[in-house]
Amino acid sequence: MIEFPSHSISPIGIIHSCYPEKFGIPRQPGLVKSSSGRLALLPPYNREEMVRGLDAFSHIWIQFLFHEAVVDGWRPTVRPPWLGGQKRVGVFASRSPHRPNYLGLSVVRLTGICQDKHGLFLEIAELDLLDQTPVVDIKPYVPYSDGIVGASGGFIPPPESVEREVVFSEEAAIFCRDYEQRTGRRLRSLICESLEQDPRPASQRRQMREYGMALWDVNVRWQAQGERFLVLMILER
Ligand code: SAH
Repeated sequence: MIEFPSHSISPIGIIHSCYPEKFGIPRQPGLVKSSSGRLALLPPYNREEMVRGLDAFSHIWIQFLFHEAVVDGWRPTVRPPWLGGQKRVGVFASRSPHRPNYLGLSVVRLTGICQDKHGLFLEIAELDLLDQTPVVDIKPYVPYSDGIVGASGGFIPPPESVEREVVFSEEAAIFCRDYEQRTGRRLRSLICESLEQDPRPASQRRQMREYGMALWDVNVRWQAQGERFLVLMILER
């Protein structure tokens, strides 16, 4: 057995995101342009000097704990959604949250760094992170070595370019308009882009039923009719 120094990991920050629940979160970052949030640095890491120079980068890597997967445990093989939830692959050949150590890795857009009386925050967008996710490390994204031209994506395909229409009821459209004026959040495009990803599990894609999706502090009720998504109503949570 190789000897190495004993070390435990604890969070350096916490995510505040538009996704209070797992259902509706995209499968990878970069897919929903209007998704956004903040990474709040925790003491003793909430010091301006610790992020000095980071604002020069457009994107950052966030390493985090899949904290909501820990209670379910992990398995050596998983059924990734990319394979229609049928075929099994090794957990280390997947991006599943249910993995030993439960560590996640996402590249997100860095839109700002701000300090106010509540603390030090990184403003982030295009994310796939649940609200309250504990963050264990941050690194700048380095295009020349992190972006590999011609890399093979294995069985994880780029997102399908299916044309999906998202239609709002009059009530839902009015709610969005008022909410956007009140909060400055781009709720309507967040809903459209999230539904364009079709958040339903592969097994339910043929069914006609109503779904609820939590975004920020609202609950969005919607229904799929083929490739057409109807936003029925939006309620405060
Ligand atoms: N980009 C990351 C995550 C991919 S899995 C990686 O490759 O490691 C993306 C899914 O993780 C999302 O659809 C969401 O359901 C889930 N997720 C995000 N944050 C989570 C958390 N804190 N705990 C458990 N699951 C989470």
